[in-house]
Amino acid sequence: MSKLKSSESVRVVVRCRPMNGKEKAASYDKVVDVDVKLGQVSVKNPKGVAHEMPKTFTFDAVYDWNAKQFELYDETFRPLVDSVLQGFNGTIFAYGQTGTGKTYTMEGVRGDPEKRGVIPNSFDHIFTHISRSQNQQYLVRASYLEIYQEEIRDLLSKDQTKRLELKERPDTGVYVKDLSSFVTKSVKEIEHVMNVGNQNRSVGATNMNEHSSRSHAIFVITIECSEVGLDGENHIRVGKLNLVDLAGSERQAKTGAQGERLKEATKINLSLSALGNVISALVDGKSTHIPYRDSKLTRLLQDSLGGNAKTVMVANVGPASYNVEETLTTLRYANRAKNIKNKPRVNEDPKDALLREFQEEIARLKAQLEKRSIGRRKRREKRREGGGSGGGGEEEEEEGEEGEEEGDDKDDYWREQQEKLEIEKRAIVEDHSLVAEEKMRLLREKEKKMEDLRREKDAAEMLGAKIKVPDPPPVLRLHSFSTCVHSCVCSYRHLIIENFIPLEEKSKIMNRSFFDEEEDHWKLHPITRLENQQMMKRPVSAVGYKRPLSQHARMSMMIRPEARYRAENIVLLELDMPSRTTRDYEGPAIAPKVQAALDAALQDEDEIQVDASSFESTTNKKSKARPKSGRKSGSSSSSSGVPASQLYPQSRGLVPK
Ligand code: ADP
Ligand code: MG
Repeated sequence: MSKLKSSESVRVVVRCRPMNGKEKAASYDKVVDVDVKLGQVSVKNPKGVAHEMPKTFTFDAVYDWNAKQFELYDETFRPLVDSVLQGFNGTIFAYGQTGTGKTYTMEGVRGDPEKRGVIPNSFDHIFTHISRSQNQQYLVRASYLEIYQEEIRDLLSKDQTKRLELKERPDTGVYVKDLSSFVTKSVKEIEHVMNVGNQNRSVGATNMNEHSSRSHAIFVITIECSEVGLDGENHIRVGKLNLVDLAGSERQAKTGAQGERLKEATKINLSLSALGNVISALVDGKSTHIPYRDSKLTRLLQDSLGGNAKTVMVANVGPASYNVEETLTTLRYANRAKNIKNKPRVNEDPKDALLREFQEEIARLKAQLEKRSIGRRKRREKRREGGGSGGGGEEEEEEGEEGEEEGDDKDDYWREQQEKLEIEKRAIVEDHSLVAEEKMRLLREKEKKMEDLRREKDAAEMLGAKIKVPDPPPVLRLHSFSTCVHSCVCSYRHLIIENFIPLEEKSKIMNRSFFDEEEDHWKLHPITRLENQQMMKRPVSAVGYKRPLSQHARMSMMIRPEARYRAENIVLLELDMPSRTTRDYEGPAIAPKVQAALDAALQDEDEIQVDASSFESTTNKKSKARPKSGRKSGSSSSSSGVPASQLYPQSRGLVPK
């Protein structure tokens, strides 16, 4: 998948260096004029007549002898590096005659922060960007190569006599077979890679200046960025930045080279002239064939010229009159390059993304861990179900089982891992779709993993068999971490103990714990009388007081003696009787009729003499709503001599006798 973008031209900028000491001493005329605002460079003909017009060229930007490195970086290179961080390919060429400032522009002056060139400035830029990013994962790799006499040398390889080949693949294009690349995690690391390469550049060169002026150096930074896209899927974008310090563009004929030197010169010219031819073919509008294959340089940088990359060319010139011919040649060359059209596009989800490989490896390991811990849990549950005899010894039994199981598991684990790696290795060897160098790389990786595994196993065995390190004391043991690698469990435990258990508590427990060889588990010494006494001591905050007091309470007591913090006063306070809110129980009100009946019932039989007339009138007057049964008998109860039973309320359904 790729995001297409409309075509854009190669950006061409010109930089003119200041007169150097020699040129000043020789009082050379300055023939170059730079109009920064108009983006124009004018060159006077030193031999021309006074009124001859200077030759003027216009570029995307021009920089004179006062231009600072950071100005170039911010205006011209930064946007390109930003694009690389977004997943575009980007190339910066420094073109020009030897001694005009190509290396100054690309590398700068070592040890002088203000004079750092685009390469070290891009390191800062890239890693600052990465450190500020939030939802992305980055992987930065660096390679460094040199093309000298049409031979490619890996400047980061141990064997500097080896020459590398160019290969091509339909999906990923042209690449250097076996080129080493180093994953770098910081500015310091990538700087180290650059320094190693620079040192190797001079290896075997009798004259470094000569060598560097005849060779093309390419520093390659590959930036992979993984991010969850709008579709919720993880996507990887890969941007590649080529930082190219080209060989001097001066015509070799001028130096009068002969024999071996001439052959070398022709070869140097081959890459540079091929570069010129590619540019011409790209811009003349007629060519159907672009001669990329004519040189190593043009083949390798094919994408940067008329391809999918973003490209900046810096044409370096000197200001002095004696270089006027070369200066004009460079400017004409640069002027043509302006017309190259590229179609930059983001490289999304390429097959060869290393980050994808890493992520898949991590996911595989995670799944393995998960599988193992689930398996172990299940086995344990099964055993528990099978032998659930209960009782006090169950726990110890289980402990023992777990230890045994762990041993079995460990063996299984090592075997599993080793077999897996062997299978993977065989698969790589047999996979014909892989190109040889990728195979080699993958095989090397697998070899390394096997070596790591072996070492891990040895270390675990050392621990397990020879030293027989018991598990930590029970209090500090964390059962929830069932990790397959024993050392990993230990480090987790330690991590948690170190971070979550207060130091003095830890040492208290450690001092009391001991390993009982016979029973094969950790025990705690009983608390001694001295320890008990120490533990029983009054807390310091309570010495001199009845109870422990906070510092705040003490301060408050001093400032306001009557304050509530005066704990001593609490005993002096008298209890106030609460105001009364309740009433004594007086019993329920009994209706007079009922009361009378009750009284009558409590009397002896011959004493019963009830005169209801007196209260009947009052009762009836007072309350009409008195018992209904009372009303019924009311009409006939006015005369005296009525039997007492008739005075009682009668239920409606009952007929009196
Ligand atoms: P090249 O790589 O093109 O052969 P160098 O980068 O080695 O040229 O530059 C030649 C000399 O000129 C070096 O000493 C370098 O420090 C100096 N130089 C080049 N460009 C500038 C500049 N813009 N400002 C100051 N010094 C420069
Ligand atoms: Mg140089």
